Amino acid sequence: MNYHSMSADQLRETGSELQKLYDVLCAAGLKLDLTRGKPAPEQLDLSNELLSLPGDKYRDAAGTDCRNYGGQTGLPELREIFGELLAVDPKNLLALGNASLEVMHDLVVFSLLSGNPDSAKPWSSEPIKFLCPSPGYDRHFAITETYGIEMITVPMLPNGPDVDACAALTANDPSIKGMWAVPTYSNPTGVTFTEEVTRGLLSMPAADDFRIIWDNAYAVHTLVDAPPPPLPVLDMAAEAGNPNRVYVLGSTSKITFAGAGVAFFGSSKENVDWFTKHLSFKTIGPDKVNQLRHAMFFGDADGVRAHMARHREILAPKFKLVLDILDDRLAASKVAAWSHPEGGYFVSLDVIDGTARRVIELAKEAGIALTTAGSAFPYREDPFDRNIRLAPTLPSIEDLRVAMDGVATCVLLAASESLLASRDS
Ligand code: PMP
Repeated sequence: MNYHSMSADQLRETGSELQKLYDVLCAAGLKLDLTRGKPAPEQLDLSNELLSLPGDKYRDAAGTDCRNYGGQTGLPELREIFGELLAVDPKNLLALGNASLEVMHDLVVFSLLSGNPDSAKPWSSEPIKFLCPSPGYDRHFAITETYGIEMITVPMLPNGPDVDACAALTANDPSIKGMWAVPTYSNPTGVTFTEEVTRGLLSMPAADDFRIIWDNAYAVHTLVDAPPPPLPVLDMAAEAGNPNRVYVLGSTSKITFAGAGVAFFGSSKENVDWFTKHLSFKTIGPDKVNQLRHAMFFGDADGVRAHMARHREILAPKFKLVLDILDDRLAASKVAAWSHPEGGYFVSLDVIDGTARRVIELAKEAGIALTTAGSAFPYREDPFDRNIRLAPTLPSIEDLRVAMDGVATCVLLAASESLLASRDS
């Protein structure tokens, strides 16, 4: 029944039934974790062949000895494969270390220390700001927060960030130097940016050294037959007259091994040269042996697509289970709304305003760990205290069922408490 149309007595009665359910939940001594978007062990198993690659092979297609130093730009054959998947010309795509997050961190830090090719001075020479479409990725926000970059929340709409809101800010404030963006199956909303939104972001007036960190972490991570075709965002930026505006990122972290994959960085030639120059002081070259084994393992872009279809077989039932439980337990009460992602790693759950923190607390006491309240927002401040990021990939189906059923009980209990309190006040 719709909780909003319940009388105070009905809410009290419902609340005490829910409290009994919750007490049983707490007594079960659970220890379940829905906090982080990690691949499940069975997903990692899909890539176990990597453990015995490259065997005794150590030369790439061009004959380079991958065991030695050098090759800053990464293995050409792997750049070909991911160039196709990220819609970046392989000439402008670098294959790097094991974490795209590290590359994003370095892009920000190099800019703070030295400015980018379009900066008149280092970013750190004056207070600067970043646009943060929210809900968004907490580790993005952690980078900007750590380095004292002011974060401005902009709304995430069903088609991508609110372009009008972004443009109104960047047009009038040259201290806005950057923007975080996850264009495909966004973390945590599952939103994929449309071409129209993308063109708006690429053409809006902004400082010359304004950059969009286009983190296409989930470009191929689909739960349906095929992911949306990647937009050739670098070509589109050039057409819009802002060829240096975009940094494209990607990685195999959630394709092969989360801790031992390969990261990619693509941009205009000017940006890539700038980044490579700074990188050359940091490393004499990436782990080419790892890149070689990845190239051998995939073969080509279709090899990656076929591999992702196997991930989907493992993940689709988990996402379906989460959505079924939410639907079954929460739909009628009208106390929550949630995303129906076609890919990526998360379900974004919005509960009654002012109750997300309470739900997370209740779940924690029952032994179900959820992502910290507010984590999808800059400074961990959810303006409505309503968003909860659910990460269903890591637990087994059995654990996920128990955890989600428990979460639903916590959502209902917190809702009944909150609605009753507002009736009483
Ligand atoms: N970007 C996004 C949007 C992510 O969700 C994640 C992983 N949770 C990452 C980047 C991390 O990628 P990597 O392992 O390549 O650092």
